[in-house]
Amino acid sequence: MARTTIELRIRRQDAPSAAPRWEEFALPYRPGENVISCLMEIQRHPVTRQGRETTPVFWDCSCLEEVCGSCTMLVNGRPRQACTALVDRLPEGVLRLEPLTKFPLIRDLAVDRQAMFDALVQVRAWISIDGTYDLGPGPTLPADEAAKAYAFARCITCGCCMEACPQFNERSDFIGPAPIAQVRLFNAHPTGAMNAAERLEAIMGHGGLEDCGNAQNCVEVCPKEIPLTEAFGELGRQTLVHGLRRLLGR
Ligand code: SF4
Repeated sequence: MARTTIELRIRRQDAPSAAPRWEEFALPYRPGENVISCLMEIQRHPVTRQGRETTPVFWDCSCLEEVCGSCTMLVNGRPRQACTALVDRLPEGVLRLEPLTKFPLIRDLAVDRQAMFDALVQVRAWISIDGTYDLGPGPTLPADEAAKAYAFARCITCGCCMEACPQFNERSDFIGPAPIAQVRLFNAHPTGAMNAAERLEAIMGHGGLEDCGNAQNCVEVCPKEIPLTEAFGELGRQTLVHGLRRLLGR
C-alpha cells in the first residue's frame, strides 16, 4: 500500500534543566522529504498526532547540504545530519529524532558542540601565518600526499564520531576522534609542520591519543568517510618519534 503519512516521534526538552518528554507527529506524505523539511512542516503547524497544540520543535541547521554539520542529531538512534536524512531512504515506520547525547543540550534537538571547537584550539588545528606582508608562493605538497590530506580536510565538525565514541563522555577528558585527526592533517602540511611538535604534545598524555579505546565506532558513523583510525595509527608513530627525540634532547 502506498505510504500516506510520515510519522515522527521527537524527544522534546524545553531547557537543559527541564524534564524531557516525547511528542508524536503525523505529516501527509510527500516524496523527496528530508528530516529538516519535516521539522519545518511541524514548525508551520505545531500540532501533535493526537491533535494537541504544542510549541515548534527547536533544532539547529545552516547549509542544508551536509557541509556545516550543525543539524547533526540522532535519527533512529544513529548520529547523522538531518539535511541528508531522506525520508524515502529511511526504513518505513515511525521516525525517531533525538538530540546528540555527548554534548550539552540547548533545547529539543539542538546541542552545544563547543567542546569540539575548544579541542581544535587545544591541538592548534590551523596553519600559523602571521603578518600581512607578501609571503610569496608557499611550499607545495606532492599530489599523493595532498590527496591523503584532503581526506582529513573533509571534516565538517559534525560530532558524529564524538557521539559514537565510547571514550568521549562526561566522565572522561578524551578530546575525541575529530580533533585528533586534524593533527594528522595539519602536521602533514609543509607550513603546518613547523608547529607539529606542539600539536603532538597536545595529544600526548591524559585525554589524548592514548585514551582512544580502538572501538572504531567513529569510522562507522563519519558521513565523510574520513579514515580516522588511519590517522590515529600515523599519529601513534609521530608521537613515539617525538617522545624519543624529547628523551634524547633533540
Ligand atoms: Fe563528523 Fe567525520 Fe569530522 Fe567526526 S571526523 S566530526 S564524524 S566529519
